[in-house]
Amino acid sequence: MGDVRSLRCRECGAEYSAGALYACEFCFGPLECVYDYGHIADRVDRAAIERGPKTLWRYGALLPVGDVPSRSLGTGYTPLVRAERLGAELGLPKLWIKDDTRNPTNSFKDRVTAVALAKAVELGFGTIACASTGNLANAVAAHAAKAGLRSFVFVPASIEDAKITSTAVYGGSVVTVDGNYDAVNRLCAEVAGTRPWAFVNVNLRPYYAEGSKTLAFETVEQLGWRAPDHCVVPVGSGSLLTKIDKGLKELHKVWLLEEEPHTRISGAQAAGCAPVSTAWAEHAERIKPVKPDTIAKSIAIGDPADGVYAIDVVNDTGGAFGTVTDEEILDAMKLLARTEGIFAETAGGVTIATLCQLAAAGTIRPDETVVAYVTGHGLKTLDAVHSEVETLKTTPRLEDFDAMLDAAGFVDADARAGLEPVLPFASSPSRFSEEDA
Ligand SMILES: *Cc1c(COP(=O)(O)O)cnc(C)c1O
Ligand SMILES: [Zn+2]
Repeated sequence: MGDVRSLRCRECGAEYSAGALYACEFCFGPLECVYDYGHIADRVDRAAIERGPKTLWRYGALLPVGDVPSRSLGTGYTPLVRAERLGAELGLPKLWIKDDTRNPTNSFKDRVTAVALAKAVELGFGTIACASTGNLANAVAAHAAKAGLRSFVFVPASIEDAKITSTAVYGGSVVTVDGNYDAVNRLCAEVAGTRPWAFVNVNLRPYYAEGSKTLAFETVEQLGWRAPDHCVVPVGSGSLLTKIDKGLKELHKVWLLEEEPHTRISGAQAAGCAPVSTAWAEHAERIKPVKPDTIAKSIAIGDPADGVYAIDVVNDTGGAFGTVTDEEILDAMKLLARTEGIFAETAGGVTIATLCQLAAAGTIRPDETVVAYVTGHGLKTLDAVHSEVETLKTTPRLEDFDAMLDAAGFVDADARAGLEPVLPFASSPSRFSEEDA
C-alpha cells in the first residue's frame, strides 16, 4: 500500500515525518504528502490496478495509507458518462461527466473521508471530526458509523435541513454553529488544539486532500489510460482542483501514463462566493476573503485555504475560471438533468454553468476531450430547485386528464407518428398461443 515518504511544506519546503501534522512550524505553510515515486513505479502497473477492488482503493499504492480499513463503505470508481446530449447542446462532441453523485453519501467528500479515516485509524484516533458545509459532515458521520468510530461534525446552522438530518441519522454528534463556514473552521482549529480528535480537514488535511486525486486516476483509467484535454472542477477551498492536477501528474511519474499529461484545468465558482475566480480575473497576488451568499452552499467558502494554489494550477495548465450566478446554476442543474438524466446538487450546477460559459467563450474547444466533475447529488439541495420545476395537475377522471393536456397545448408526437395505444386484451392470437395450438 501507500508509500508516503514524508510531509513537505508547500511554502518553504521543510520536511517532516508523516504523522498528524498539518502546518509548517517555520512558516505556517500547509503540508503535503511526498511519495517515493520510483519505488511505487516498480510495484504498480495498469493490469494490477484493473484487477483491484472497484473502489478508490484500487489506487492504494498512490494513497498515504498502509492498510485498507477492513470495514468500509465502498467509495469511488463512479461512472464516467459520455454526455452526448449535453455535448450536442454545447457544441462539445467529446464531453464526459464524472458522476460522483454515486458515492456512498452521494458526494465526492466520501473520497477524502475514506482516506482520512483510514489514516486516523492507522494513527490510533478514536474520534473523527470535521468542519463542513454539509457534504463532508454526511460522509464523516457515515464512514465513522461503519468503522465504529465516534464522530463530531461541525456545520454552519444555515445549511440545508436535508444535509443536517441526513448526517444526524448516522448517530454521531452534529454541532450546528451560529456562524458561516469560515467561523466553523476557526472553531474547529481551536478544538483540534485542545482535544485528541482527528479532524479530517484540519489536522489530517494533508491525507484528506490526497483522496481527491482518485478522481483524476479514475478518469484516466476510464478513458482507456488517456488524460483528458480539459477538466472543469468546482472550487470551494480549492483543494479538489489542485489534487486533480497532482493526480494526473503522478500517473506519469509512476509510468501509468507514458506521456506527460497536458490537461487544462478550469475552475468553477458561484458569483455569490467567488474569491478565487475574482482574484484570478484581477491578476491579484492575494485572495480577498468574501462573505458567501449563494445557493451553492457546499462550496461557499469565503476564505479558501488552497485558493492561491488553485489559481497557480489554472494558470500553469492554460485553464480559466467561470463565475456563475444562482440563476445560471439553477438553469444548468435543469439542463444536466434534462439532457443526461443526472440530478446534481447546486455545486454541480456551478460546474455545468461554467462549462456552458467557457464553451460559449471558446475557452473550452470542440476538439478537446472534456471532463466535467459533478460532485454532489441533487436530493441534497432540493429546496433550491423546488420552485423551478413544473408539474401537471388533474383529477382521477380521464376527461379531466384529456382536457388538461388540451389546455396545456400538448401535441402527442407518438400518436402523430402512428403509434397505437396499448390495449389490455390482444385482438389477435399471440405467437405463443399459435405455437401451443
Ligand atoms: C467540498 C465540495 C467541493 C469542493 O471542494 P474543495 O476541495 O473544498 O474545493 C465541490 N463540490 C462539492 C459537492 C463539495 O461538497
Ligand atoms: Zn514552511
